[in-house]
Amino acid sequence: MKFYDAHNHLRDERLAPYLESILSGMAADSIERVVVNGSCEEDWPAVLALAKRDPRVLASFGYHPWYIRERTRSWLENLEGFLVAVPSAIGEIGLDKWIKGHDMEDQERVFSTQLQLASRRNLPVSIHCLQAWGRLLEILRRSPRPARGFVLHSFGGPREMIEELSALGAYFSLPGYFAHTRKDRQREAFRHVPMDRLLIETDAPDQSLPPERVRFPLPETNDGKPVNHPANLVAVYEFGAELRQTGLDELAVQVEANFNRVFGGL
Ligand SMILES: [Zn+2]
Repeated sequence: MKFYDAHNHLRDERLAPYLESILSGMAADSIERVVVNGSCEEDWPAVLALAKRDPRVLASFGYHPWYIRERTRSWLENLEGFLVAVPSAIGEIGLDKWIKGHDMEDQERVFSTQLQLASRRNLPVSIHCLQAWGRLLEILRRSPRPARGFVLHSFGGPREMIEELSALGAYFSLPGYFAHTRKDRQREAFRHVPMDRLLIETDAPDQSLPPERVRFPLPETNDGKPVNHPANLVAVYEFGAELRQTGLDELAVQVEANFNRVFGGL
């Protein structure tokens, strides 16, 4: 079996003390490829360095809505420079009405610009969306989209939108966090995702599984938040297999095909 992490943040400083052991342990855990997201200009050089160092790392560069206020005047040129430096995806980008003090107009401008760039270059794109599903759907409907499709990372949108989103080219990525009891609504939505559009992610170091499912525990941060080890990927697959009532092998084969369809060739 081979496992694919559709979305993580391996360059996050919370993982820095463990980076060597994470990379050296990947083979033993059959982790074949991981999409490592950069969320702002400060992130991008470190993501690039990781991708150059390890071919299993697929770099993804983008401006996350939480950080767009920090962007420089030359952010877009800068982004395009990273995109040609190494085969890469675009992300993490998105819309977020949950975060305090959001400026939706600015978010939409930066998101649309990046979506158009992904579409022009036919690059996979990793989309974050919190409490802005209606707007996201409207933008996706009217905007050019990458022919190979796009990824809704940690999809937490309404189940009723899955069909239309799929028709527009969406892949839906399941995080281990949705195994928490209170995430009923999200689990129910994932039962309705077409099997050929399902991806699996850790979003490490965020979105930890419930403690009883964690295989690779790490010490909490000083403020008591769990730190998710990316090798918990296999445990997220197990959760996905339970959720979709399928065998782990069968799920792994399906997710591999899906991953290669959207991220293939990079
Ligand atoms: Zn993320």
